Amino acid sequence: MAEVERKQDRAPVPSEWTYAPAPESTDIVTLQERYGLFVGGEWVEPASGEHFTTISPRDEEPLADVAQAGAEDVDRAVSAARDAFENGWGQASPAERAKYLFRIARILQERSREFAVLESLNGGKPIKESRDVDLPLAAAHFFYYAGWADKLEYAFPNRRPQPIGVAGQIIPWNFPLLMLAWKVAPALAAGNTVVLKPAETTPLTALLFCDVLRQAELPAGVVNILTGDGRTGAEIVKHQGTDKIAFTGSTEVGKAIQRELAGTGKKLTLELGGKAANIIFDDAALDQAVEGIVNGIYFNQGHVCCAGSRLFVQESIYEQTIDKLKRRLTTLRVGDPLDKNTDVGAINSSMQLEKISELVESGKEEGAEIYQPPCRLPDKGYWFVPTVFTNVAQSYRIAQEEIFGPVLSVLTFRTPDEALEKANNTPYGLSAGVWTEKGSRILSMAQKLRAGVVWANTFNRFDPTSPFGGYKESGFGREGGLHGLEPYLKFDGETEEWGG
Ligand code: NDP
Repeated sequence: MAEVERKQDRAPVPSEWTYAPAPESTDIVTLQERYGLFVGGEWVEPASGEHFTTISPRDEEPLADVAQAGAEDVDRAVSAARDAFENGWGQASPAERAKYLFRIARILQERSREFAVLESLNGGKPIKESRDVDLPLAAAHFFYYAGWADKLEYAFPNRRPQPIGVAGQIIPWNFPLLMLAWKVAPALAAGNTVVLKPAETTPLTALLFCDVLRQAELPAGVVNILTGDGRTGAEIVKHQGTDKIAFTGSTEVGKAIQRELAGTGKKLTLELGGKAANIIFDDAALDQAVEGIVNGIYFNQGHVCCAGSRLFVQESIYEQTIDKLKRRLTTLRVGDPLDKNTDVGAINSSMQLEKISELVESGKEEGAEIYQPPCRLPDKGYWFVPTVFTNVAQSYRIAQEEIFGPVLSVLTFRTPDEALEKANNTPYGLSAGVWTEKGSRILSMAQKLRAGVVWANTFNRFDPTSPFGGYKESGFGREGGLHGLEPYLKFDGETEEWGG
């Protein structure tokens, strides 16, 4: 130690690191001024003739006009999907289906830079995340499910798996292309056709994906993409021609969909909100845990359903952990999503920024102590400084409600039982994290935490082979892995009234 200090005396480290801008070029993306709907393998105009403008949250500049699909368009898309299912895709040999999925996966890899830039432009997430997380994972999902397409009989032995028909799929704005991959890949591998609606604020990578489908020569009507707002989603849900609905989004809309579908016999999977506990025990490797805390809540600006938004720190290491965390926050670079150095990008929309700001105000009013590192934000666009709240009581709204932004609420505990009781004290149950050196403690906590995914000594890790989904108000059904195929299949002897 002394030697290090002597060395530091001779060669002091710079007191401040600055980064030169490293902007990713947008030249690789070619946008149309106006997009139609992708139905039956063709671009068609919406029946209403209505379009809306999609912008970039980094500077509020318009990017393109996209179509608003209505009931008539949903009907057209569902008919195209039914036709494709009954006249080809549903009966296609499983190896033939796999061929198309492999093609899609490879094309996504080949065009990954183009997709990554567009994802960051339209959604606001840092380019290093779209480049290193969203795109590789989206391609990996297609590769993974391509592998299962001709092995369903082995995956579900003696159950005679068969496709169910037309799947209606509604996805959110936080991982636009990745959520599309999570939905489309297993549906197609199982032999279904699809009508998918991307979120209103992030339609562009789904529209670019239509070009991938044409490049892959996927038969017309197997995948149909309808842009629009919540009304389009509601039309897809209530259309009588869909056999299954897969939804990712807010708990509120998820509950409305469940009510709408009650008694219809349609299959349903819901992947909803979360308020994950990230639990740090006093024997954890603290520097590693601090990185996990940062990754847990500031990754993708906290727009993550499984974000580690409630931090539970064992009392004996509280001061130390908070000091290290605050110091680490001062090194986060907030700004242009297209800069390769950026850690925290733009908030997805003005609505989401308002929601985050309102909840943060409530935290201050209720008595929590706020910390935000010094940070210069761009003049235009939607931004929120990475925030930590300490002195948080369990009853505060910031400890109860999903903020879906870069805001962490810190609470403390003394014993494992107290940590468990507090962590499980939420209507949600999507994910959790445990940081400790003891394997037995990890296993014991993982068994008792009411969460679909429990990460140990890491956070926010995803893999196509691993099922993901929630308990309680976080929804039901699993995506990823073998479990992710089941909701897209029916089996011999299974009744139609099955919600899984
Ligand atoms: P929503 O649940 O409204 O949106 C999710 C998707 O559902 C979007 O495609 C949306 O369309 C569509 N939709 C909206 N209303 C309906 C409806 N009645 N029937 C069918 N589909 C519908 O989430 P928000 O975008 O409004 O975000 C609100 C909050 O939800 C966030 O602050 C966050 O807390 C949570 N959320 C959770 C997500 C998760 O991954 N679990 C993802 C996104 C949000 P459109 O975009 O056009 O409105």
